[in-house]
Amino acid sequence: MLYQDLPREKLVELRKELSAEYEEFRKAGLKLDMSRGKPGLEQLGIAHDILTDDSCVSPGGIDCRNYGNPDGLPELRELFSAVMRVPASNVLLGENSSLSLMYNCVMWAYIFGVGGCKPWSQCGNVKFLCPVPGYDRHFAITEEFGIEMINVAMDGSGPDMDTVEKLVSSDPSIKGIWCVPKYSNPSGVTYSDETVRRFAALRPAAKDFRIFWDNAYCVHELYPDDAVQLADLYGECVKNGTQDMPYIFFSTSKITYAGGGVAAVGASDSNIAELKRRTSIRTICTDKLNQLRHYDFIKASGGIENIMRKHAEHLRPRFEKVLEILDSELSGTGAACWTRPSGGYFISFETLPGCAKKVVASCKEVGVKLTPAGATYPYRRDPHDSNIRIAPSCPSIEELTVATRLLCLCTKLATVEALLSSN
Ligand code: PLP
Repeated sequence: MLYQDLPREKLVELRKELSAEYEEFRKAGLKLDMSRGKPGLEQLGIAHDILTDDSCVSPGGIDCRNYGNPDGLPELRELFSAVMRVPASNVLLGENSSLSLMYNCVMWAYIFGVGGCKPWSQCGNVKFLCPVPGYDRHFAITEEFGIEMINVAMDGSGPDMDTVEKLVSSDPSIKGIWCVPKYSNPSGVTYSDETVRRFAALRPAAKDFRIFWDNAYCVHELYPDDAVQLADLYGECVKNGTQDMPYIFFSTSKITYAGGGVAAVGASDSNIAELKRRTSIRTICTDKLNQLRHYDFIKASGGIENIMRKHAEHLRPRFEKVLEILDSELSGTGAACWTRPSGGYFISFETLPGCAKKVVASCKEVGVKLTPAGATYPYRRDPHDSNIRIAPSCPSIEELTVATRLLCLCTKLATVEALLSSN
């Protein structure tokens, strides 16, 4: 029965029962962390062969111990090109982190300008669109540069494109948008074909508007035989003559090693030429030995898809366990709703307005750490105080079971308290 329909005396009774259950959790002395989307221990074992590979010379004869090839190892660019859906000649390999490539792109646009335009630092109040809920580390970058962030609502097909089109075409101070187009962090939403087409057809008022297309989860299926297809943004942009709009980011952080993989950016000829020029000032070349180890490992594994099947074996039961508990504990109560992603790293959970902070604090008080409420919004301000990001990848199934039961309990308790105080 919906909690909203319960009479006051029932709610009081329920609060007593739930509080007693909560005290039992306190006695258990838990110490669990579900706050970040880190790969689990078993997943880190998948790429172990990378550590024992001592090859130095690439199939094309490049000695990876030496300077040279500032764009990165051609063989790995070719492999990445297929998943990034950008020609290999338009893929630039970075170091270990796609986030640092994103940071560089914002920083260089801020300091030097992009595409021959004025530096953002000289453009007055610069703005970015931020589909919400979204990824806290994206928002941290734009916040660091004092760029004003504007929330754009997400639905099951991606950001609200009517709003995106209206704002981008009318306001020249809007210079970018953060996007995680496949298995979005945290909602798990994949942008629909129409959304991607509308992105490619944008006519920004700012000549230096850039789409930050962070395709971090492009091959991260939970059900690989039923893979979700994301439309090809770069191809659509080429058709529209808007190929200078997107920066397409990718990394192997959740394919091989988190923070120990290889990152890449894909973009148009002129964007890549500009990024290469800037990169060449700060480094002679990237770490080709790591790139070669990655190339060898991916080849020996029979391709990225085969590696991702192993990750899915680890992740799928965890997602299913969390969803099973949410369904059995909360369905029909009206206390929360949640997403059911078929890939990526997160489940997005919505409490009643005004309850998320309370739920996260109650979980923390008895030893379960969740991503702080508000983190999925710019400036850590969730206007409804309702979104919580669930990250099921790292804990064991037993830990996840306990942590998710506690999350449900704290959600019920916060809901009952909110209803009692509003009556
Ligand atoms: N982008 C998204 C959407 C993420 O969720 C993450 C990590 O959780 C990253 C980027 C970080 O990627 P990298 O390790 O390549 O910096």
